[in-house]
Amino acid sequence: MSSVIVVGAGLAGLSAACHLVGRGHDVTVLEREAVPGGRAGRIERDGYAFDTGPTVLTMPELLAQAFAAAGADMDSLLTLRRLDPAYRAVFADGSVINVRAGRDAMAAEIRATSGPKDAAAFERFATWLARLYAVEMPSFIDRNFDSLTDLARPPGPGLTLLRMGAFGRLGNVVARTFDDERLHRLFTFQAMYAGLAPAQALAVYAVITYMDSIEGVWYPVGGIHAVPTALATAADKAGAQLRYGVDVNRILLASGSTGPVRGVRLRGGEVVAADAVVCTLDLPVAYDRLLPGLTPPRAARRGRFSPSAVVWHVGMRGQQSPDDVGHHNIHFGTEWDQAFRALMRSGTLMPDPSLLVSVPTVTEPSLAPPDGSVLYVLEPVPNLDGQIDWTAERPRMRERLHAHITRLGYGGDVVVEEMVDPLDWERQGMARGTPFALAHTFGQTGPFRPANTDRRAPGLVFAGSGTVPGVGVPMVLISGRLAADRVDEAAR
Ligand SMILES: Cc1cc2nc3c(=O)[nH]c(=O)nc-3n(C[C@H](O)[C@H](O)[C@H](O)COP(=O)(O)OP(=O)(O)OC[C@H]3O[C@@H](n4cnc5c(N)ncnc54)[C@H](O)[C@@H]3O)c2cc1C
Repeated sequence: MSSVIVVGAGLAGLSAACHLVGRGHDVTVLEREAVPGGRAGRIERDGYAFDTGPTVLTMPELLAQAFAAAGADMDSLLTLRRLDPAYRAVFADGSVINVRAGRDAMAAEIRATSGPKDAAAFERFATWLARLYAVEMPSFIDRNFDSLTDLARPPGPGLTLLRMGAFGRLGNVVARTFDDERLHRLFTFQAMYAGLAPAQALAVYAVITYMDSIEGVWYPVGGIHAVPTALATAADKAGAQLRYGVDVNRILLASGSTGPVRGVRLRGGEVVAADAVVCTLDLPVAYDRLLPGLTPPRAARRGRFSPSAVVWHVGMRGQQSPDDVGHHNIHFGTEWDQAFRALMRSGTLMPDPSLLVSVPTVTEPSLAPPDGSVLYVLEPVPNLDGQIDWTAERPRMRERLHAHITRLGYGGDVVVEEMVDPLDWERQGMARGTPFALAHTFGQTGPFRPANTDRRAPGLVFAGSGTVPGVGVPMVLISGRLAADRVDEAAR
């Protein structure tokens, strides 16, 4: 048993804490905010409650593993409902395809909207995706890498992926599979979650499509913020100490700027000693602020970061018609490849952007006062490496989003609102103003991504979206477990 400090009570830190405390370590979680959650935060105003970050929850079994690691039963702390449809996709011509829960229901939806040939193709595609996931998860996602050669150890999984065409372009694989172009968008837009344009992403990233379109999308009663709240309860009950409102301003190393970890220093001067520190700040920011003597890995300094997002939280008077609005609505613009070129190459706004509009009050009306609704409007935008002056753009963006959702049919008076732009993400401690970290280009994935250890500082371990395996709720939950494995290795 060793004493371990976890810096940050976001989902990565809480997952790490649950795994570490379950293995008998003496765990202290230090969080600067007053509540757990980090990016999975919550705003409450005038009777409206908003989730601030993730809205699409996938792979609940990974979450259950974190609870189980702390000896807790997820179902006793959290109620999850599977959403059906997972998404309602609305295309520029006004047509709608629902991403239904379950393969049979989805095949029936495709038969009705795109015809029997594409429905049969979906059956084959879903089987291919499931196999892709089964090969990738244990060999390339849910494991620590010590060197590049680990990629080929054992060689079987890599060869299987090669044979499956997983190193081709995702856009090409999907275009060859389906005739209906709407399905090309529906089954490739998830590349965006990894910071990639669908046409450029390798087909290996179709595992994200598998996670939401095949395994399904879930809603935790109370909103996504209920997830970190429940994880924090589990960690606390298992014996972890959680301290809120404490800002860590240095990770202490034996010889000043290098050497074994000794603990952390808080703003105000208090020193908390530990044998190991799991740091979950956005990795480039962690090096910059907490480890000023250590040069960050190359990707953290010069890598390609994912696009960012503007999120407009709106509390409306008036309900949205459940016949016309789903819990998650994706509104595809007419532009596609050109929109991604603007976003990722030119660093400009998408012409005719696609929007995610989540309306959690469709599932849980009590998130708003009676006769009210909560809208979460997300537009992908360039990160701060792009060309936008956000101080000037912000008010224009708000007006455009308002006009856009009104055109799309969302009605009601805006009662409360809050907009978050890339400058806000940067202020919250996210490098380049993106909450989606380093993009998952092949050269920034797996053993090429900044590692979760730094051999100059034994006992220092990273977790969260800037390290392995990467971005998104399922990945950062895994990163917490991988971090716990690293702590165990260091303690041996
Ligand atoms: C708008 C948005 C939409 C998203 N949508 C989805 C989605 O639909 N599905 C999905 O799977 N993922 C989504 N994500 C991504 C997902 O939310 C993140 O990958 C994940 O929540 C990151 O968790 P984390 O623990 O790594 O980081 P964080 O949540 O950022 O946790 C880091 C914690 O460290 C704390 N901290 C920072 N500095 C200090 C310090 N000096 N001292 C002490 N504590 C400190 C912070 O307060 C924070 O609590 C979305 C994210 C955003 C922002």
